[in-house]
Amino acid sequence: MENTKKVAANAATAFIANGDLRLSDHFKLREFTLSGAAIRYNLDNTPTTVEVERLRALCVNVLEPLRHRFGVLRITSGYRSERVNKIVGGAVRSQHRLGEAADIHVSSLEVAQKMCHFVKEHLDFDQLILESVAKTGARWIHVSYKATGNRREFFTLKR
Ligand SMILES: [Zn+2]
Repeated sequence: MENTKKVAANAATAFIANGDLRLSDHFKLREFTLSGAAIRYNLDNTPTTVEVERLRALCVNVLEPLRHRFGVLRITSGYRSERVNKIVGGAVRSQHRLGEAADIHVSSLEVAQKMCHFVKEHLDFDQLILESVAKTGARWIHVSYKATGNRREFFTLKR
């Protein structure tokens, strides 16, 4: 009995660590766990089963509809383990820590505004932030989703 349990637990861990795990029709786990910081500092960035389920909910409820409307999305940051989050300077209570948030690359301010408008008009979400860095010209959309109590908060953030 003990042995069977142990094997099952190992199988579950291996399954989650597998980047090929499909979260929804067009998104795989790898897109949310790949992290430059994790590679550079050799840090584990593997979500727990609960965190994977949150990523799945984000995909199904927000990212799939967005992709359907705008085409292929490039996720620049998804899940962050505690250590990865610390190294990239993420907020302690960042929803990236929980598997509830993703950053989406946007090619222009116009596209970013169209995407934000679509999310606000058609989808349920917790936080939607149009972020940009003046110095580098980088621009992305941070969007999060919770199973319950979504706040539908929107704002822009210039760094
Ligand atoms: Zn973010």
